[in-house]
Parts: sequence; C-alpha cells; structure tokens
Amino acid sequence: MHVTPATARISSSALRHNIQTIKQKAPHSKVIAVVKANAYGHGVEFVSSAIEKDVDCFGVARLSEALKLRSNGITKPILLLEGFFDENDLAVIAVNNIETVVHNQEQLDALQRATLPNPIKVWLKIDTGMHRLGVNLAQVDKFYQALKNCPNVQPNIRFMSHFSRADERQSNYTNLQLERFLSAVNQRGERSIAASGGILFWQNSHLEWIRPGIIMYGISPDNNPDSVQDLAPVMSLISSLIAIRPLKKGEPVGYGGAWQSAKDTNIGIVAIGYGDGYPRDMPTGTPVLINGRRVPVVGRVSMDMLAVDLGAESQDSVGDEVVLWGNGLPIEEIAEKSGLLTYELITKLTPRVLTEYVD
Ligand SMILES: *Cc1c(COP(=O)(O)O)cnc(C)c1O
Repeated sequence: MHVTPATARISSSALRHNIQTIKQKAPHSKVIAVVKANAYGHGVEFVSSAIEKDVDCFGVARLSEALKLRSNGITKPILLLEGFFDENDLAVIAVNNIETVVHNQEQLDALQRATLPNPIKVWLKIDTGMHRLGVNLAQVDKFYQALKNCPNVQPNIRFMSHFSRADERQSNYTNLQLERFLSAVNQRGERSIAASGGILFWQNSHLEWIRPGIIMYGISPDNNPDSVQDLAPVMSLISSLIAIRPLKKGEPVGYGGAWQSAKDTNIGIVAIGYGDGYPRDMPTGTPVLINGRRVPVVGRVSMDMLAVDLGAESQDSVGDEVVLWGNGLPIEEIAEKSGLLTYELITKLTPRVLTEYVD
C-alpha cells in the first residue's frame, strides 16, 4: 500500500509556457516576475531559478524575500514592491543589487540621510487612484527632484503605479488611472503600471515594464478561467484516498453530522484538510477529481481529512489520486465555491503540504 498525502505538484513546463505567452502579449515590455509570498505558494526557490533567464527582474514584498532569492543564487535585479521598512536595511539593499520603491516622505528622508557604499535604483510610486501606497499626483515633481538630487539614488529614476480595478473589463477607472500616470510621469523615465489584469485586459497599459503575478502561475486575475485559456495551471493540488467505506442512507458523515446521505453510497476519505490550507468552510458539493470524474466533498472538512461521496457504483481504491484543483479542475471554480480568491487559496497552503516538481 502506498498513499501520497497533500502535495502541490508544480509543473515547470507550464511555468515556462506561461512566461513565453505573457511575453508575447506584451512584446515591447520588460518583465518583473512577481514571486512574493513564496511565489504565490508555488515554491520561490524553484520558480525563480526556473524562470530567471526569461525575465528582467523579480518583484517581492519583503526584504527577507529578496535576500532569500540572493542566497539561492539569483543575480537578476530584485524590486521591493513596497519599498524598505527600516532605514538600517539600506546598506544591505545597496550591496545586494536590490531596487526599491519609494512611496512616502519617510523613505525619502531616510535615503537622504543614509551613508551607503553605492547608490540604489529607485522606483517612485505614484498614487493614481488606488489610494493604498504612493505619492499624490501633486507631490510627484517634488519627489522626483529630490530623488534626482540624492547621491544615494542612481540616475534614471523609474515610475510605477497600481490599478485597483484592472480585472473589471468594463470599468473606466483603469483608463483614468492610466491617464493620470502618463501625465504625472511626463516622459521622465521608464514606467510600470500593469499587473496581471492590466496585462490581459488593458493593452495600452503595458508600457516599458509589466509586473505579472498570478497569471505566471496560470491563474486568472478575474476568477474567470476563460481569461487564461492560453495559459496552463502550474500547480495541481493533489492527495489520495486513505479509506473507502460503505454508508447507509440517512447516516451522517463527519463533525456535527453536518451531511447525511440521501441514499446508500460509498464514502471516500481524502488525506487533506484545513491543516494543509484546504479551507474548512468549503461547502458540501465542492468538486474534487478522482479517476477522471468529479465527486463532491461532503460534510465538514477536518484538520487532516475530508470526505467525498464516491457513489454506490464506485470502483475506486485506497491510494488513488485525488485532485483538489489544477489540471482538469480549474482553481477558479474552487475559489467560486469557497467564496475565497484564487490568490488566497494558493497562499493559504501550509508547510505540511509536500512539493513535487515535474517536467
Ligand atoms: C502583487 C503585486 C503585483 C502582481 O499582481 P498580480 O495581480 O498577481 O499580477 C504587481 N504589482 C504589485 C505592486 C504587487 O504588489
């Protein structure tokens, strides 16, 4: 007997296919591959080394993530998408060829105060309407001049901004943000505003640099699998059946007896639960794939297991593979069932989930 527990199966050929497809969509743009949050749960060491030669820069959210890439042998530039959090980190940033966003006065002050071994590459982040990070439109010129005159900052300052509604194809807010961005930058340097939504749906937003995150992993930014038909899912989340048990009509399954069978059937127990990051509140009826057919999750998800209704005619065996999402079962559909974002599902996986790299 052999049973594979919860495992994220990661396809490097799907990853390379996606990078090439994204580059074809934005043929004149350089690529900042966003690998924050452990490459969206896909394993940052593997993902970054698999794609390094195909991209121009990596984007992360924490200095610790940037340093992990460096200790893993990555030599391409790395951009801190939210800038630095502590001015004592500036020397480490400078010597490790890490680029930083500047989005507030505190960061500018720190750069002006610092004594550094070499100047740092800076991206000035402009708030064009997201109202999360970035300097206001009226402050752009002041920040630009100050950065230009700062000896700790490399020449040729770049500019970035972020869309708040790029996944909504009908919203005109994206055009408004783009217009504000273009006029604020006013041709003074290279620009980046498009993440996955901008890359897929707003061709005129590609500019000099794109910042793909979720689409590199073959997942759509608007929870619509049709948006990524030409991309391939990089992760399949799999596990296995560890028990198959007959169940009489009317008998309950799992904690709280939350589900009772309407007929005689066979219940399969799968070795994955909320302790692996599979959401506890996944509703009864959420599909999983077993031996090429969809069967529903039934009852409450436990920490280490969940139950599925295999049906009275089940020919399945203990050890058979179960796909929770990925190849043959789009994660967008699972996200829809759970009421969570695909972004959340993939970053919720816990360290207990094994990783298996294929092709
Ligand atoms: C996370 C992030 C991205 C990537 O977003 P996706 O929607 O996953 O493509 C791009 N830019 C910034 C600033 C980010 O924080």
